[in-house]
Amino acid sequence: MDTRKEKPILYIVIPCYNEQEVLPMTAPLFREELSRLISAGRIGEDSRILFVNDGSRDDTWRIIQELSRQDPCFQGLCLSRNRGHQNALLCGLMEARNRCDITISIDCDGQDDIRAMDQMVEEYHAGAEVVYGVRSSRETDTFFKRFTAQSFYRLLNSMGADTVYNHADYRLASARVLKEFAGFREVNIFLRGMFPLVGFKSTCVYYERSERMAGKSHYPLKKMLALAFDGITSLSVKPIRLITGFGVVISAVSFLLILYALIAWAGGRAVAGWASTLIAVALLGGIQLISLGVIGEYVGKIFLETKQRPRYIVSERTEGMREGEKQA
Ligand code: UDP
Ligand code: MG
Repeated sequence: MDTRKEKPILYIVIPCYNEQEVLPMTAPLFREELSRLISAGRIGEDSRILFVNDGSRDDTWRIIQELSRQDPCFQGLCLSRNRGHQNALLCGLMEARNRCDITISIDCDGQDDIRAMDQMVEEYHAGAEVVYGVRSSRETDTFFKRFTAQSFYRLLNSMGADTVYNHADYRLASARVLKEFAGFREVNIFLRGMFPLVGFKSTCVYYERSERMAGKSHYPLKKMLALAFDGITSLSVKPIRLITGFGVVISAVSFLLILYALIAWAGGRAVAGWASTLIAVALLGGIQLISLGVIGEYVGKIFLETKQRPRYIVSERTEGMREGEKQA
């Protein structure tokens, strides 16, 4: 039905931020997987590993340059400053899409099972355009990380930002999907919630998540909450609706309170009840502030979107990424 190549060119896209400890360990593992897929005849010989240096302050970019000098299979892009994981990944995917048939995005810390790529590529051959890598268990994560991460997915889904449960950004996406994805021009990006919006045939591949090989996580609770909040407010207006619903309920309750107060006053039982007044005022004050905050968040997003600023700026490239600079 479609014109899929027998040996598609694969680009493995890997965002890296201050990863000098782990990169020398995981780069050979990615290389090994790429060679295995090439020699198994499942992907083309021109397949590459594309690192995106997200404005690291350590030796990450030098390591990437060195890798690329030794082996042209490794390529790199350097962002002009730290733009965050999502933007770095977007940059890599957008740059890769004109050079390949499929991309697989993965973190550089070796937490996600690299071997799961075999199955992702098989699913592509079987017809899928997007393959979500899903963590089947989180036994090696600490209880705290597991609990907060799972609450994160539940919160997202209950707030109308549909995501694949336990899927982070380990994902195969075909160039065809990325071409459509490029039409999503928003600057507040939450990739794992946006791919389902693009559509096309998708499927899941399950894998075990292990511990970081070295270095430390860049997603402490604070950043994870920020990502969840961004995900929700970028993808869904449900919180605004919730506020409206809440407002209706509170108004109904207030109406009953007013009735009660009037009846009490008419019956001459109006004792100065400052406690109840204070509680009502404080409660409503709090609710109003939260509501305003949420609405403000959306207004802020509109503000950022209207500016249409570039989502990333590439400052340097390794040799192999130079040609075709114009087309990206
Ligand atoms: N990362 C990035 N920019 C940032 C923060 C993180 O490119 O500002 C990269 C990081 O190098 C890693 C991936 O995003 O490849 C995921 O980060 P991390 O492993 O720290 O998160 P966790 O797996 O703990 O959620
Ligand atoms: Mg990690």
